[in-house]
Amino acid sequence: MIEKADVVIIGGGVNGCALAYELASKGINNVVIEKNHLASGATGRCGAGIRQQWSTKENATLAIESVKIFERLSEEFGEGIGLRQGGYLIAIHDEDDMKQAEKNVKMQRFLGLDVDILEADEIKEVVPILDVKGMDAIGATFCPTDGHADPFKTTYAYARAATKKGAKIYRFTEVQGILTENGKIKGVKTSKGTIKADIVVNAAGAWSKKIAEMAGVTLPNVPYKKEIMVTERMTHAFDSMVISFKDGIYFSQQEEGQILGGIPPPETVTGYETTPTLSFLRHMSQTLTRYVPVLKHINVLRQWTGFYDVTPDALPILGEVKGLERFIQCNGFSGHGFMLSPMVAKLLAELITGEKTSLPIGRLKLERFEKMEFEREKSVVG
Ligand SMILES: Cc1cc2nc3c(=O)[nH]c(=O)nc-3n(C[C@H](O)[C@H](O)[C@H](O)COP(=O)(O)OP(=O)(O)OC[C@H]3O[C@@H](n4cnc5c(N)ncnc54)[C@H](O)[C@@H]3O)c2cc1C
Repeated sequence: MIEKADVVIIGGGVNGCALAYELASKGINNVVIEKNHLASGATGRCGAGIRQQWSTKENATLAIESVKIFERLSEEFGEGIGLRQGGYLIAIHDEDDMKQAEKNVKMQRFLGLDVDILEADEIKEVVPILDVKGMDAIGATFCPTDGHADPFKTTYAYARAATKKGAKIYRFTEVQGILTENGKIKGVKTSKGTIKADIVVNAAGAWSKKIAEMAGVTLPNVPYKKEIMVTERMTHAFDSMVISFKDGIYFSQQEEGQILGGIPPPETVTGYETTPTLSFLRHMSQTLTRYVPVLKHINVLRQWTGFYDVTPDALPILGEVKGLERFIQCNGFSGHGFMLSPMVAKLLAELITGEKTSLPIGRLKLERFEKMEFEREKSVVG
């Protein structure tokens, strides 16, 4: 193991690997430390949906800019990331939903997004398999450039590209301590030795709070257990991801034909408990077949769990920490850290090299919670 690096990144999920690539592209010598295999955290367990339709300008902008990067990654890496842009259809159930949707769409269009409000009878033109009465929708919003990608292909492609440009990735190596001296970062202590570094990035997903504690920093993040399932394959029926903020459900059809989706389990579970439950499966099956009755003939193949790393406003924590400036946060992504990762990595690489960031990220610093100056993201599912 090397003894010194300019930047140590803790966490080999999509965010850690994307940042390693962006830093290495700028000639910054960096190391990723991952306690397990790459994408073993939320990244390898996620729905990998990519949605630009958000209620806050911050999430919408990060997602819009990320889509521009996702669209060129396969060519840049010379290997596919499984990007498919079949759109996202978001159900509108009542007048309150409609008011919020109109507000969101106005802001999203202002940001340049191609997004529309559909009447109830237009929903089946986009996703013919839906039962509009069953899903209890009076309309929907639809953005055709939303979609999803393969989280493993994306993470491994970023990791391979980062390594080619000089980054080092240590798997099955656990960070056990953060070294500091007089309010300055000095490095990390790992299960395989110590690495000196002036900059450490906390990209440890649902474990970020624990990592921050090692440096005496308190994050407000809470790990929530989430469940997700996949069915057997069926004939191709639709391209769009379907979601509802009211029901909390999201589902899409994979390239190979499986239906993949999730919903909040009936019992909210915080902490690091990972057992899949029958109550989730029942709730998901009942809601999914209300939306798409024909799916009652399809078997569920597998279900699994993962963690959302949730902040009080469902926006990520990005950037430096007051009093320990070179301890950079890259966490708190709740249920949308895959889709934001390309732009987040670009911005943090700019911050680390001292450039002017392409987008202002000051509002996403940890300090916002001290002052209670934040607006909560309303468009969350799962
Ligand atoms: C069921 C589910 C569905 C989701 N669906 C979507 C979706 O459709 N779209 C979307 O954008 N997002 C989705 N998300 C959220 C998304 O998965 C995450 O926000 C994103 O993957 C976070 O990536 P990350 O790299 O920040 O963290 P992670 O992928 O969690 O990576 C953090 C890594 O840090 C490592 N680590 C932790 N502690 C240490 C240590 N001490 N030493 C070394 N390594 C350590 C972990 O092993 C882990 O690999 C979903 C999440 C879940 C659980």
